[in-house]
Amino acid sequence: MIKNPALSLLHPVGNNLTVPLDIQTLLVAVALATAFCAAARLLLWRMHLSIPGLGRWALAGSAAVITLVLILFYGKFQWRPSLSFAQAFVVMGLLLSWDGFRRFIGKPALTPVVLGGISAIGLAWILIAQTEYLIDDRGVGNAFLMAVLSFLIAYDLLRSPQGNMPAIRATGAIYAINTVVFLIRAVIAQGSPEIIDPLNPNGVAAFMLLWLLCSMIAITLGMVLMTAERLQADLNNQANHDPLTGALNRRSFALLYEKAMAYSRRNQRPLSVLMIDLDNFKYVNDHLGHEFGDKVLCSFVAVTQKTLREEDVFCRFGGEEFVALLPNTGSESALGVANRLRSAFEIDSALIEPKAGHEPLTITVSIGIAELKLEEGFEALLSRADNALYQAKDNGRNRCEVAG
Ligand code: GH3
Ligand code: MG
Ligand code: MG
Repeated sequence: MIKNPALSLLHPVGNNLTVPLDIQTLLVAVALATAFCAAARLLLWRMHLSIPGLGRWALAGSAAVITLVLILFYGKFQWRPSLSFAQAFVVMGLLLSWDGFRRFIGKPALTPVVLGGISAIGLAWILIAQTEYLIDDRGVGNAFLMAVLSFLIAYDLLRSPQGNMPAIRATGAIYAINTVVFLIRAVIAQGSPEIIDPLNPNGVAAFMLLWLLCSMIAITLGMVLMTAERLQADLNNQANHDPLTGALNRRSFALLYEKAMAYSRRNQRPLSVLMIDLDNFKYVNDHLGHEFGDKVLCSFVAVTQKTLREEDVFCRFGGEEFVALLPNTGSESALGVANRLRSAFEIDSALIEPKAGHEPLTITVSIGIAELKLEEGFEALLSRADNALYQAKDNGRNRCEVAG
């Protein structure tokens, strides 16, 4: 007898209507789809071995396949413990997925304590539930455990700093829906555990199998899209940043200065630019080697990133030349910033470890400063800053000059 009217949609009775969704057929379909999803995850892992988390997703996919095989086995031989083993593999799959998602989004991997703890709870529950008097509560406990694990995955994905990326958000949403589905299942299982029996044609089995089919495909698709999103972000990052120092490159600077100029004009706020060049850098390279020169460039970028504000735009313009755009900053304040940067690097440069047999070296920078004039274009502004930089070099280096 169907107790829940909603279920009659899946299993219309009366008027000799046949059951439209045959559980065994559905089970085979879900098992096949799960196997294809697991294969796709394995392929994804093999194609991108360096991306963390993908191996865990592949293992979770394999756990899902074993789960389905165990349920099919139960269907054939009615051996109840195979359902408990299936449940254990479901928990294992969710744990592996959770660990994989955490690794993927850059969160610490689950510690052996957490993994061991949850596995122990799951295993203890499965063993306890084998006793006759708890057999009815087993469905409730299982469904609740799955809801909790799905919630933890949804929480980590949706609350991660990358949670605004569409594929991560969509995958998080699937796990959030999974949480709700399993909570409802836990409620339904209370009092009438037979309704959640995976082979009961009058229970929620058909609905659960359909949901499993959809969610398995959607989550695997989510993983593929998350990986594509990650690769695209890496490509964008490479296209916009200098590989040696990690600073923005000239290409991305061109996109950002237009925004800064438009903001300055619209809000009638000052905008200054610093043209920075390391002093006698050819000498540094010639005497201490190119590798040391590279270390100096990286150290300069690190000092700058500590000195400038979040809204300032800083880029490697080429070689040992850098440009900084300072929004809301007039030439006088920009001179203060430039001098702070110059002294900070002078101190820091002496700490860079030289190659064996050489004394540490103090390296300095010269900086030209120009403030945007009314009606002036960016090229003209940059050219004035460049002239000021030449003036600083002519005046003896290790100094800042403001364009007239
Ligand atoms: P000045 O004080 O007049 O600026 O003298 P300088 O020696 O710094 O000027 P010059 O333009 O003659 O030399 C720049 C040097 O920067 C030459 C080049 O080998 C070096 N350089 C450019 N890019 C890199 C890099 O990526 N790594 C290293 N190590 N050196 C670089
Ligand atoms: Mg130089
Ligand atoms: Mg130069």
